[in-house]
Amino acid sequence: MQAHLISFFEHQVPMLPEEYLPGYLARLFEMTKGVNARQLMSFNGSTQLGKLHQLFPRVASCFAYRESASECGDTLLERHLGARFWLSFVPEDDYREHIEQIMSRPKSKRSVFCGEETLNSLKPMKFCSECRNNDIKRYGASFWRANQQLTSIFYCDEHNKPLNTFKIDNKLSLKNYPVINDEVLEASIPLSDAPLLRWLHDETTVFLSAMSIEDNRYEISRIKWFITRALGTKQSGGKLIITRSINQDWRSFLAMSLSQLCMSETSYIDFADRSMNSLTRLIAQDAPVSHPLIFLLAKKYAQELTLRKII
Ligand SMILES: [Zn+2]
Repeated sequence: MQAHLISFFEHQVPMLPEEYLPGYLARLFEMTKGVNARQLMSFNGSTQLGKLHQLFPRVASCFAYRESASECGDTLLERHLGARFWLSFVPEDDYREHIEQIMSRPKSKRSVFCGEETLNSLKPMKFCSECRNNDIKRYGASFWRANQQLTSIFYCDEHNKPLNTFKIDNKLSLKNYPVINDEVLEASIPLSDAPLLRWLHDETTVFLSAMSIEDNRYEISRIKWFITRALGTKQSGGKLIITRSINQDWRSFLAMSLSQLCMSETSYIDFADRSMNSLTRLIAQDAPVSHPLIFLLAKKYAQELTLRKII
């Protein structure tokens, strides 16, 4: 078994409860200044944390599933990367295959979800200013929380208030912000309370508090059936058929919702048009979900359509 230097330091400076794994690695990096970076990050094959727009960044898989890890990788990712939520959207076999590919190719940029590169602007770092104050009183500094970094989490459940967002400059990385310091606080923007944000947050929280990932996978399959019925989907030659007008209506809804969630001026019209975001693909029981956020929006769309029909 290959021993990694990081395991030694992990015991010296353990992760805090609920701490976001890449944030912890950034903090460990800062606290071990003077230690050879290459040796410290040997588990990763690179001294970089990489881009963190992915729900499951490469550095997290290399840390969680390294040979010398003291804790089960799956458990660690549930506690420190919100895996109870996002892993529910990935079939078990696909997930294991993804880890194998990632671990064997240090330069791999492969994502678990194919829509992640485009949704980059929807994944700023997030924190709660009240939690930050409490952390500073308790630990002398504040740390990034795992669940708050999920794309569809917008509120602090403990303090029942919208989170602050902080966008890291393209030339910098989380290694420049291992803790939520004054600079982060001053440059952060509080999210405004909006029904769509609240709805997505509540849906995500249900998945996070489920008994198991397996329960969540069953629930996702059930939601797919609900959407299928709500859209009046027909079957022809083994294929699911959705009317052209509903498909167009969905694409407008998706592009509009993403623009509402995004702080930049990005247009999501082309993204919404991609085949991976089509309703037929999203409701197919055996097809992978392009992104959990897109799936939740499809559920919201189906709910609204059902209400419109009743009215
Ligand atoms: Zn809080």
